[in-house]
Amino acid sequence: MNSSDMILSKGYAAYDSKSGLKPFDFKRRPVGTKDLLVKILYCGICHSDIHTVRSEWGDREFPIVPGHEIIGKVERVGGDVTRFKAGDIVGIGCMVDSCRKCESCKAGAEYACEMGGPIWTYGSEEKHIGGKTYGGYSSNIVVDEAFTLKIPSGLDLAATAPLLCAGTTTYTPLKYWKVGPGQKIGIIGLGGLGHIAVKLAHSFGADVTVLTTSRDKLNDALKFGASSTLLITDRKAMKDHVGKFDLILDTASSKHEINSFLNLLKRDGKLVLVGLPSEPLSINAFSIVSGHHVLAGSGLGGIKETQEMLDYCAKKKIGSEVEVIPIQKVNEAYERVVKGDVRYRFVIDMNSLNKER
Ligand code: NAP
Ligand code: ZN
Repeated sequence: MNSSDMILSKGYAAYDSKSGLKPFDFKRRPVGTKDLLVKILYCGICHSDIHTVRSEWGDREFPIVPGHEIIGKVERVGGDVTRFKAGDIVGIGCMVDSCRKCESCKAGAEYACEMGGPIWTYGSEEKHIGGKTYGGYSSNIVVDEAFTLKIPSGLDLAATAPLLCAGTTTYTPLKYWKVGPGQKIGIIGLGGLGHIAVKLAHSFGADVTVLTTSRDKLNDALKFGASSTLLITDRKAMKDHVGKFDLILDTASSKHEINSFLNLLKRDGKLVLVGLPSEPLSINAFSIVSGHHVLAGSGLGGIKETQEMLDYCAKKKIGSEVEVIPIQKVNEAYERVVKGDVRYRFVIDMNSLNKER
């Protein structure tokens, strides 16, 4: 490898868990034969980015360039690339590689790669040049075509970026548990994941109720396709809903009293956790055993399923509600996400990187 072929990238990084994000220049690996060089246009801000850079999920190695909801334009392709060409609009989500040989990878579940997990878009080992992988809050990325998604034409690109994580993370469990007509589905949390989950579950024909802590989000929940809403702080309303749901998808990002949600399930009902609060949730065995309930979890989908989700969303015209910001506002945006004050996903316009330095 010739080091002069390394690619200069400009971005924003956290240098420690407390000081917020600041400008950071670094190098990407040279474009390999199966790689694409992608100019990043938009990148969504996922709550996982915040958990990670604040070390809420445990200590991390810094600097960290977050970002795994990436939309960009292919600038250059390696000699053996077959599925993409310069000028194509592409997506990159949470993973940029995996072993591709284990049972999970072969089954299209690269997120569960049995060789120690996939290579995450940021914070994993960069096996080509050493160091860590750096994510999408940056001007460009070099990525293997096998982990690159095709973006159907005619889409609003900023509204599509959040589908690369929030979309796949909600589509996968709704599909896996066969959510559809005749079912009453609850979505806990109307944030980035939650509002896309509402649109998806509604499009699958389910009867959707949003369970929220925010009174000022109730109207939006109905606009996104919910038929009803439930304020979690309203004890009487919660009591009235005991035993009513076939499935509840829990996207809450901070610690919560999960037993009160398990009690809302019908017999055989399922509560599927996708939110990842940093503190443990405390489960009363009676809330699962008594109603023959299932407590399940789900992460993002594999690459094939993520492509299926993107094609489905294009067909159904499902996108994220977004607030597009320049990168210079990223720290302010983080504060607002943590307060639940986002309508409903911040997406960084990466062109704003040119405005400084
Ligand atoms: P977000 O935009 O901040 O939305 C989270 C929402 O959860 C908040 O807006 C709030 O909605 C609700 N909430 C927060 N604390 C709550 C509590 N104590 N009780 C009830 N509801 C609460 O975050 P996001 O980007 O959607 O991510 C949500 C969670 O999923 C994060 O923990 C993130 O790390 C995780 N995640 C997991 C995966 C995966 O692979 N499984 C992928 C992406 C993200 P209301 O205002 O409506 O109450
Ligand atoms: Zn994410």
